[in-house]
Amino acid sequence: MALIVQKYGGTSIGSVDRIQAVAQRIIGTVKAGNSVVVVVSAMGKTTDGLVKLASEISANPSRRELDMLLSTGEQVTIALLSMALQEAGQPAVSLTGAQVGIITETAHTRARILKIETDRLNHHLNQGEVVVVAGFQGISNAEVLEITTLGRGGSDTSAVALAAALKADFCEIYTDVPGILTADPRLVEDAKLMGEITCDEMLELASLGAKVLHPRAVEIARNYGIPLVVRSSWADDPGTWVTSPTPQPRPLDGLEIARPVDAVEFDIDQAKVALLRVPDRPGVAARLFGEISIQHLDVDLIIQSIHEGNSNDIAFTVVKNSLNRAEAVSSAIIPALTVDQAPSLEKAPEVMVEQKIAKVTIAGAGMIGRPGVAAQMFSSLADAGVNIQMISTSEVKVSCVVNQQDCDRAIATLCEAFDIHQSGVRTGVDLQDPKLAIEDSPVRGVALDLKQARVAVRHVPDRPGMAAQIFQLLAQHNISVDMIIQSQRCRVVNGIMTRDIAFTVAQMDGEAAKAALQTAAP
Ligand code: ASP
Ligand code: MG
Repeated sequence: MALIVQKYGGTSIGSVDRIQAVAQRIIGTVKAGNSVVVVVSAMGKTTDGLVKLASEISANPSRRELDMLLSTGEQVTIALLSMALQEAGQPAVSLTGAQVGIITETAHTRARILKIETDRLNHHLNQGEVVVVAGFQGISNAEVLEITTLGRGGSDTSAVALAAALKADFCEIYTDVPGILTADPRLVEDAKLMGEITCDEMLELASLGAKVLHPRAVEIARNYGIPLVVRSSWADDPGTWVTSPTPQPRPLDGLEIARPVDAVEFDIDQAKVALLRVPDRPGVAARLFGEISIQHLDVDLIIQSIHEGNSNDIAFTVVKNSLNRAEAVSSAIIPALTVDQAPSLEKAPEVMVEQKIAKVTIAGAGMIGRPGVAAQMFSSLADAGVNIQMISTSEVKVSCVVNQQDCDRAIATLCEAFDIHQSGVRTGVDLQDPKLAIEDSPVRGVALDLKQARVAVRHVPDRPGMAAQIFQLLAQHNISVDMIIQSQRCRVVNGIMTRDIAFTVAQMDGEAAKAALQTAAP
């Protein structure tokens, strides 16, 4: 007999018929000999409707009152689903987040789960009841008890957190799509369903799966090793398993880690190759990396700068013992790039290499949606007097290329800043781990985000502390930065060495980011 947590999203329980169909599925699971805890969202688009109502009354409603309002949506569904189960002869009981004891931070509308009490849940399960829990909500641990919500889409997080607290055998997320696809099916006709994907891949492509699975839910599944499956609630198809290697045991207190960063990594076996002033037209990068791959050279970071005039710089890193070949390949394509170059253009393209670099990386899903994590990395490096040569980010990582002699200091300061007690070399071992290489395609998915704006800051003095200042300023304005790029491109402006830094933010934050930086530019 297994203990299973099932979560049903808004569409899956959007009408009386659907609620009854869900009840039948739950009863089927119980009849097969399992204990079931069910987590539900609000019906259909109820939460959107409530948000809209609030906005008609106030342009800026209090977050506390928003939580009070939004948490009602799930309270409707737990009662209706319990009734449907009871009507079909299955003993069931509905519980709000507070009744279960889903204890959260006080941060209204985006609270993180600290702890889940299991006594009451176990009591009901032992009586043979199905427990139907309201998703997306909890109760704060402050002196005055406050209803909190976890942030939009948070029922997934409730479900996986409950599975962790109850040590459930697995967690099933029932939704209106068949699982996780390789791309958005509205854009890519033959997007394929993945049978499995690792939690780490899901997190790297957070925007790929975000609509299907809340990234915080994936983070909990990974941290506690909860097997997770995303399936359609209309069919019996197997769906997509989201897998993770067995994690280190960790306490259930502070369940959604307060720490945004859970690893500091470094790699000193890298060298940098930069192609300066290559023409800014399609095909250049393809040509370069096509040649590189023919030589079987493994490229790690690739950073292309913001174009200026008609040219760009492209820099990349390779393992040190490939440097000579990478340099040869790069130099060999330079003449072809120069041929059709307008004579008016600045200096000719050239190749530059550098051996004494190190890559330092912070990683952790907790940085999603939290402005200020990258800024904190940059300011810690600045405090340690470390200059950053290149920056590259993904949704769950920030990597900086620094001078090799600064590596130890950089690691020490980052471990201290983010309270990390061990750090290790990582040179792509993850991808070679046979346990994790579950399907043969090297690319697991493609995510498209049309809601981004790019902001470039040109001619930033090349010295420690500059990136820190820029991203601190944005964090103060509560602007979350998605991708950050600091490129190779160096310019001497008024006798000072400068670099460009570019980043993307949500489109709606673009103007605010520009305004904030313009004020600070002088
Ligand atoms: N009902 C909430 C929302 O729409 C939580 C959820 O469905 O996951 O965001
Ligand atoms: Mg959802």
